[in-house]
Amino acid sequence: MLSTYRFRLIAYTVLLVAFLTITLVYTYIYSRNVILEEAENSVTNTASLLNGNIEMEEKELLHYTEIVRDDLRIKEYVFMIVKVGTDGEALASLYERHYGWLPVKRHIVLGDNGRTLLGSEHQDLARALVNHMEVSGKQIFYMQSGKGLEMITWAPISYQGTRLGVVALTHVIDNVWLKKHQQYSGGYLFVENDSVILLSTLPGAESQKFELNDGLLEVNKETYQIRPIVLSSSDERIAHLWYGVSMRDLLAKLERHSRIVLLLTLSGAFAILWMGLIIVRNFNRPLTELIHITRAVANGNLPVMNQTQEKNEIGILSNQFAEMLQALREKQEEIDRIHQELEESAITDSLTKLHNRRYLQDIFPRLLAQAQRDHLFLSGILLDLDHFKQINDRHGHLGGDQCLTHLSKLLKETSRANDYVFRIGGEEFLILSINDSHEGSRLLAEKIRSTLEQHPVAFKDTIIPLTASIGVSHGDTSLPPDESLTNLLYNADKALYQAKTKGRNQVRMYIQMDELEQSAWDYGS
Ligand code: GH3
Ligand code: MG
Ligand code: MG
Repeated sequence: MLSTYRFRLIAYTVLLVAFLTITLVYTYIYSRNVILEEAENSVTNTASLLNGNIEMEEKELLHYTEIVRDDLRIKEYVFMIVKVGTDGEALASLYERHYGWLPVKRHIVLGDNGRTLLGSEHQDLARALVNHMEVSGKQIFYMQSGKGLEMITWAPISYQGTRLGVVALTHVIDNVWLKKHQQYSGGYLFVENDSVILLSTLPGAESQKFELNDGLLEVNKETYQIRPIVLSSSDERIAHLWYGVSMRDLLAKLERHSRIVLLLTLSGAFAILWMGLIIVRNFNRPLTELIHITRAVANGNLPVMNQTQEKNEIGILSNQFAEMLQALREKQEEIDRIHQELEESAITDSLTKLHNRRYLQDIFPRLLAQAQRDHLFLSGILLDLDHFKQINDRHGHLGGDQCLTHLSKLLKETSRANDYVFRIGGEEFLILSINDSHEGSRLLAEKIRSTLEQHPVAFKDTIIPLTASIGVSHGDTSLPPDESLTNLLYNADKALYQAKTKGRNQVRMYIQMDELEQSAWDYGS
């Protein structure tokens, strides 16, 4: 079983499927890791890119601030306001004329004397600026204002070596700003203060809790991978900016990927299984058929095998085997026919085509058993041609043979279909007949005798008259078949001898001595 091709083919197929499955499972795990790793890298990279953009924006704002600071007319106006004590209206109109176009949210000029020279409506900004300058020299900082998270840059104004005040410009980090910065990032921006989301490009995230758990943020029952965007502010009290990517989007990508992997695995496994089955079917079926047929041949049968249309090696082998079987069958039929002919000739007399003595020995036990079973008589009618030697002498051997075939034909016609006619010697014949009485057999014998007498033989130009002497006896069913046959022939011969000695051309019945004494020999004459 383990060494059959069928088993091996199935085993190879299973191994291939297992190999494919392992490879694809490994591919799946590997690609999952790659996706997660790539996602992490992408979040980090995007965060640092955004960081760079914001730094550029800070520098740009600072640059505007320094342009305003370095404007000589502004310096002169500030000098006049601070040192001479003029009012600031002219400064406001000058600024509007020259710098009103700058893309900033708020602007303010503070004098060193604590006076707000420009933008007196922005007192919150003035306070924050003063506070900041007290603790830090950095020209960029952020503050939480009524307008939102604000980016502020400032620069000192000096005139003729004397410091007069500072100018500050601001950008507001509002939703429009957030949207502008996250435009191509594929994620969301969050502004957080005191663990609460102040602003976000993620709809519905504002005022939600901001709690990080292992680098992950949960908002609206969704998880986001989060990276900080470091702002120039060293003030830890103000809001922070974060960049986040939805884990669901990442996993959806993985899921799409895993679906393709699963589809590939299943279709690959199915294709291999299907191929395996086709191979098993194509190789195994004709081989199994050949095995069955060779077994049948070994058991002595020659079954009919259909030709196949397959042109492959196994198909050619099958067809040659079918042709070989056909040739063997034809030979076998010829052998059977010859065998039957031989068997028939072995039990048939060649001249008369009647049964011979050998067949008598074969059939006698069966007829005796039949007679015994049906409580009937098995009679033997023994016939010998009269003066046959003379016929031979007169008409030659051919004439004698003609008489013998004539008699045979006549015996066949006269006897009943279930009687058996034998040629048991040169011109001696025996008819075995099952009758319900001795009289029946005597009548048959008599009929034969008289028919022969009335039908002489036509040989060449002459007519040969023929008579026969007949002795009748019956089989003793109490004896074994062999003995019963010997006994039947012996007794019939005795009766026949009586017929011969009493003048020939007559029928004599054999009757047992103790039944009818010697005179019984003449019975039926
Ligand atoms: P009887 O009346 O006493 O029987 O006289 P008969 O001449 O017939 O004597 P018997 O039965 O002894 O003769 C048998 C003869 O049959 C001897 C032989 O020449 C002849 N014979 C035996 N077989 C054949 C045969 O096959 N063909 C021919 N033509 N003659 C045969
Ligand atoms: Mg004889
Ligand atoms: Mg004779």
